[in-house]
Formats: sequence, C-alpha cells, structure tokens
Amino acid sequence: MQQGKIGVTTENIFPVIKKFLYSDHEIFLRELVSNAVDATQKIKTLSTFGDYKDELGTLDVRVTIDKEAGTLTVSDHGIGMTAADIDKYINQIAFSGAEEFLEKYKDTANSIIGHFGLGFYSAFMVAKKVVINSLSYQEDAEPVRWECDGSPEYTMGEGDRKERGTDIILYIDDDDKQFLEQSTIDGLLKKYCRFLPVPVISGKEQEWKDGKMVDTDKDNVINSTEPQWMKKPADLTREDYLNFYHELYPGQDDPMFWIHLNVDYPFTLTGILFFPKIHNNFEITKNRIQLYCNQVYVTDSVEGVVPEFMMLLQGVIDSPDIPLNVSRSYLQSDTAVKKISTYITKKVSDRLEEIFKTDRADYEKKWDDIKIFIEYGMLTNEKFCDAAMKFVLLKDTQGKYFTLEEYKALVEPEQTDKDGNIIYLYSTNPVEQYTYINAANDHGYNVLLMDGQLDSHFIGLLEQKLEKTRLVRVDSDVVENLIRKVDAKTPNLTPLDRNMLTTAFRSQVPKVDNTNFLVEFQAMAETASPIVITQNEYMRRMKDMAAMQPGMSFYGELPDSYNLVVNTENPLVVKLRNKVSEAIGAQVEPIANDIEAKNKQASDIRSAAKDGKLDAEQEQQVKDLEKEVEDLRSKEEKIIESYSNKQPEIKQLIDLALLGNGLLKGEQLALFIKRSYKIMGE
Ligand code: ADP
Repeated sequence: MQQGKIGVTTENIFPVIKKFLYSDHEIFLRELVSNAVDATQKIKTLSTFGDYKDELGTLDVRVTIDKEAGTLTVSDHGIGMTAADIDKYINQIAFSGAEEFLEKYKDTANSIIGHFGLGFYSAFMVAKKVVINSLSYQEDAEPVRWECDGSPEYTMGEGDRKERGTDIILYIDDDDKQFLEQSTIDGLLKKYCRFLPVPVISGKEQEWKDGKMVDTDKDNVINSTEPQWMKKPADLTREDYLNFYHELYPGQDDPMFWIHLNVDYPFTLTGILFFPKIHNNFEITKNRIQLYCNQVYVTDSVEGVVPEFMMLLQGVIDSPDIPLNVSRSYLQSDTAVKKISTYITKKVSDRLEEIFKTDRADYEKKWDDIKIFIEYGMLTNEKFCDAAMKFVLLKDTQGKYFTLEEYKALVEPEQTDKDGNIIYLYSTNPVEQYTYINAANDHGYNVLLMDGQLDSHFIGLLEQKLEKTRLVRVDSDVVENLIRKVDAKTPNLTPLDRNMLTTAFRSQVPKVDNTNFLVEFQAMAETASPIVITQNEYMRRMKDMAAMQPGMSFYGELPDSYNLVVNTENPLVVKLRNKVSEAIGAQVEPIANDIEAKNKQASDIRSAAKDGKLDAEQEQQVKDLEKEVEDLRSKEEKIIESYSNKQPEIKQLIDLALLGNGLLKGEQLALFIKRSYKIMGE
C-alpha cells in the first residue's frame, strides 16, 4: 500500500477549491464525464492504430447513483490508469501556486477549472471522499484503487476492477445531497453532456404505467453523439437544421435561416448560428448562443467571442481555441478571439448577401424580421456595416423594398435640392402622418417607412454613410419646403398685417400642456393648405433620442414645439388678412407706430450714451419708455385678441391643421365639431 501527499504547494487545496468555486459546484460532473469520454476516445484511437488489439467492447459512460451508500459513480471503458499513471496525472497536480491562481481567477472559475488540469479535483467540491478504481488497457496491468478524503493524504493500493476502464466513486457531502437525485443528475447531464461524442447513460428510460411514470429496463441515453454542427453541411437537410434548432430551443418558432460555420485554419471552429424570429424587444436573453469545447458544453455567455450584435442570434459555437481560462476583458483583446469574431462576422454577412442575391423575394419577405438585426449590426460593427451596405433594404410607405443603390437612383431626379443634396423623406407613423405622405406623393416624392425600434439611430448612420444625402421626416415642413429647389418666395405681407395676423393666430391656438406653437408665414402655392403644422426635424430627433437614452433627459423635458405655418398665398388667408386689416387696421396702426417711435427713442438714448454707459437720468428715461411700450403692446394685443375671439374661422383654420396632424383631441375636438356645424348653418 502506497501512501503519500498530493503534490500541491498549498497545505490543503480542497478548502480553496470549495471556497472559490462554490457557485459552480455542479460542473464537477462535466469534468468527470469529460475525462471518461476522453479516456474512451483514447482507447478508440489506440485501437484504430493497432496499438490496442483486444476487443473494445461497449464504450459507453455510465453515471450511477447509489442512494444507500451515498455515492455517485462515473464509469467508463476507456484506457484506464496504472498506479504509475495515477501517480503522474493525479498525485502530482501539475499545478503550482494553486491558491494564488484561484484567487485571481475566481470570477471565471467555471471556465478555468477544466483547462488547468484541475478537472478531476473538482470532485472534492461535492465529495467528502473520492475513490478511483481503475484497470489500465496495458498488457498485464494490475487493477488499482486510490482513495482520498479531501486532505492532501491519499492511499493507493490493489484494486478490484475486472474490466478495462475506470470508476470514479464520489462519496457525496452531506451538504450536497441533491447530487444523489436522479432528476438533478439528469438535468446536469442534459445541460453539459448533451452532445458528447460517446453515449452517456444515466438511469433508465421511463414510461407511463398505471397512472404514473415508472422505469423501464432500457438504459436512458442522455446525449446525441453526433450533433449536427459536427456534420458536413452537404449531408444535412433543411429538416435536420430545423430539428436541431428545436432540440436546442424547444417551443420556439422556426428560425428564418441559419449559417453553418466550419473552419480549421487558422483556428478550429464549428457551429451553427440561427436567425430567430424576434417578436418583441430583445426577448432573446434566455435562448442564447451556446459555447462548446469539443462537444462539451461550456457556457451560454459568449460576450466577447461573437460581436455584440450577434447576441441576437441563437445556436452553437464549438471551438477548442477559445481561451476559456481568462477573464472576459482579456478575451476581448485576445488576438485568436478577435480573429474568430471577425470570421463569424464575415460569415454572417456573406450568408446574408448570398440569400439576398439568390432569392430576393424570400429575403424581402423576411426583411421586416431581420431588419432589427442588420441595423443593430450596422450601428455597432464597422466591418459588418460596410458589408451590409450591399444588402440592407429600405422600405417605402407603399411596402416596396429597395437597396441603397436602387433607392438613390429612384429619388435622385425628383428629390435633389438646389444645393445638390438628395433628400430622403421618411415617415415614422404612416397613419398619423398620412396627409403629409399624401402631399409628398402628390409632389412626386417617395416616402420611406422608418418605424423600427432602431430607425432613429439608423437614420443618423445613413446620413453619415451616404454622400450628400439628408433624411427628413415628411411632416417636418410643408411639402414645398421639404426639398428646396429654389429660394423661398418672401411672403407678401406688410409689417402691420404680419403683426396683426401673428397675434390673431397666436391668440386662438389651443393651450396644451408642454406644447408650444410658433406662428410663421410662408408664400406657398395658392392651392396649398392655409395652415400646416410642422415639427422641427432636429428638435424632434433630439427628443426621440432622449426618450431612448436616459442621459439626454434635458431634451426630453423640453416642450414639444410646433410651427404653425401660415400660407400667405392661400385665398382663405388672403381673405382673412383683408378682413382683419379692414376691421382693426385703423385702430392698431397708430399704436404700432407709437410702439415703433418709442422703441426708436429708447435705442437712440442708448446709442448716444458715452461708452455705452447710461447716466441715472437716461436710465430712467429708457425704463419709462420700455414701460410705455409694454402697455401699448398689451393694448394692441387686446384689440386684436378681442376681435379674433369673434372670428370663428381663425380657430377653424387652426383646428383643421391640427386635425391633419392628429393633434386635435378631447375637448378641442368636441368644440371643433360643434363650431363646424354652426358655421355650416350660417
Ligand atoms: P485534465 O483532464 O484537464 O487533464 P484532470 O485533473 O481532469 O485534468 O485529469 C488529469 C489526468 O488524469 C487526465 O489527463 C488523464 O490522463 C487522467 N484521467 C482522469 N480521469 C481519467 C479516466 N476516467 N480514465 C483515464 N484517465 C483519466
């Protein structure tokens, strides 16, 4: 009987393992089953090369629970170990400074453990005693039994295993009794071992009998040993991919399409990525891409390995070349990982381009669902963005799809302004902005639909990427001004008329909380509406952005500001102007003149002052003048306002414009209807 001390530098590594890897206890099973599978693969290889001549026999791996004994056993028919092997591989943990190491990497404990020869020792996270019972494949090998109770002391002596292979017997800790439950073990095996290349058996298959589930005598095989991603794409049908998808993510709709990854140089990587149908906001968080290492499940947090935007995808990536032994921040700067990420990006964009080229109709059909993914990719990944310029689509309000190139060709002739900028018009809500879209279409303009969650950002991106192109929301100005082809005509209004009409309209605008209306005059076509309500493109974008980004709340808190654009050429406006002028022009004019004179007086005093400094007397004079102007103003305003109050057509014109913009609601709307009937009766 051999006795000895496990060769680690720290006095006792096991408390360290327990302490730091506490949250990841369950991975011991992954480690032990992986070791069993490795040993099985090795014997297969030896046999293939003729270095092992005996029968291989059954090669499955079994996980068995013995509740009475309190043990969990992982058995294989692999190469087994001699006492010398155990000495070399188990007793001398090829590992110094274990404690320091674990301290440093405790956050990524899950991923490091299997990759630093600590795999076997993870058994001590859940076991108070571990026994190895093994018989090596080597000729004349003696069975060997190794035993350790979690202290650095072990014993090793003659074993009783009769067949080639290894049993690892865990005497489960009292704190970890859940690992003696078949359902717990099944769950863990399903999670970690589902696609291992050797059959893993645990418990029996069950059937429904006499009103309950009972064990049959058929072994319950956990895994499918040849997962689809390891096969050649040419050997797989559409059904195979769909079945595999549903096996990975039960209860999901069919994915839209998939990409089979397969590289062996300069790194090894296989996998299948699926494009799921995304129903609502980023619902994807629970069905994520799974990362495997030689068919062993590692994790489903693939941040850093795939570009951020691909977190919307699902599927499997299997690569032994992704360094799992390091922290996430390191991962992102690792060159191998960068290459992998670049490769995946390229594969995804190639595939999208291919689908676009080979079946445009199908691509268009799927566009509304993949749009969010492509826009997200373009916004966050430069390389993808460049590639996607070829296959990103724009959809117009009539449901037609265009590539960027096609769209430019379509609108360039009609929608280029006097400075040579191409103006793309868009709508965020075709129902609310219906009148504007209609007006634009009547003008021979096309209007894009930009109602997606990322569109406000995407619009900014398009402006950056497309030369001399601006995007303008269809309701941001009157149609004549959306695309300025000639310099605007100045409205034909005397200062007095302008003044009176401004006050007349302003006094009749509805008072809505947190909403401002600015009265503005433009000479549009005679046939154009008398009043159009527009919203400044820049302010609106800022407010939209603010709604999505908490940091920009300043813009969010600003009131909504609309322009009430009065068309001075419209006959109704002309009529109103004349009417106002006739009715109160004579009354208002002297006041207005007075205001002007007093303002002039005040400014004369200011400009006469030496060095711009007023003396006490001058200051008083200016103050008095300002007060007089203020009084005159309110007198003037009162005249115009009380006159306007009696002219229902002013309110009517404003309300009609508001109505066209979806802004007339509630009480205002009720009043409008009442007034309309009244006017009709007159
Ligand atoms: P790793 O698997 O990362 O090398 P482990 O601590 O899990 O680290 O195992 C150390 C070594 O012990 C393995 O490389 C292998 O040589 C040997 N070993 C472990 N389990 C078995 C087994 N079931 N059959 C044969 N050899 C094994």
